[in-house]
Amino acid sequence: MATCIHTVEELRNLIKPLKAQGKTVGLVPTMGALHAGHASLIEASAKENDITVVSVFVNPTQFGPNEDFEAYPRTLESDLKVVENAGGTYVFAPSAKEMYPSEDMTWVEVTGDITKVLCGRTRPIHFRGVTTVVTKLFNIVAPTRAYFGQKDAQQVEVLKRMVKDMFIDIQMRIMPINREESGLARSSRNTYLSESEKAAATVLSASLKDALEAFKKGEHSLKAISEMVKEKISKEPLSNIEYVECYGLPGLYPLENEIKAPSLLALAVRFGNTRLIDNIILE
Ligand code: AMP
Repeated sequence: MATCIHTVEELRNLIKPLKAQGKTVGLVPTMGALHAGHASLIEASAKENDITVVSVFVNPTQFGPNEDFEAYPRTLESDLKVVENAGGTYVFAPSAKEMYPSEDMTWVEVTGDITKVLCGRTRPIHFRGVTTVVTKLFNIVAPTRAYFGQKDAQQVEVLKRMVKDMFIDIQMRIMPINREESGLARSSRNTYLSESEKAAATVLSASLKDALEAFKKGEHSLKAISEMVKEKISKEPLSNIEYVECYGLPGLYPLENEIKAPSLLALAVRFGNTRLIDNIILE
């Protein structure tokens, strides 16, 4: 079983001598309830580094007041098995008090439209929580490489911006979206879905795939592509669209009428009370 560590001091005491021996360290930040998507990040890290640290921390500062912080699945025992099977070395599972010892806070915040568009519109404090906790994890582990999933595409762009702006010397490794056979992007939140909602949610990946095909065939109109995706999703009666939007990469710059390659086509859609996100790169 991968070794589970709960304090910053203990983790640092384990990692420091290994780094002094020249060993490389991969960090995989997660909120637990690990699935095959997380495992793909851990496997990539285990392949490229001598040591892999997987953090399992449901970070309170990235949840808004009416979000699912309390309900978020916590499955540390089975997470340890996933980490072990994927080749991870250490699981870092700190308490909230360990990560946020004082009520007075130091925030790390990326400002500008990059954190205000897409999920930032309905989750105004989310990315500030993410960049703050990831900075803490970067400083605790001082990894050679850090692994993130393209599933959270806006998070990737925001973290890349933070790393660039703050001159952080860590290689950012971005892994493709891991999907179920149905096409549904794996997510810890999929456990909230009923059978019928889960079946209905396959429309998300199907509509993104259609959009990519249309883009490749020459349909580059922002309006046409967005409408096409919205129309297909709306036909599914259990769906409730929050957004379907497209921004230029890198950095999520605004597009006018034409989609330029590469661009990110991203969506957030509710099925019942469950909010799902998915995306595809148009290129
Ligand atoms: P989370 O536990 O949801 O915060 O996710 C931890 C990391 O795993 C993030 O970098 C996510 O983007 C990544 N991740 C989550 N789901 C998937 C997936 N289906 N495919 C690839 N990466 C994923």
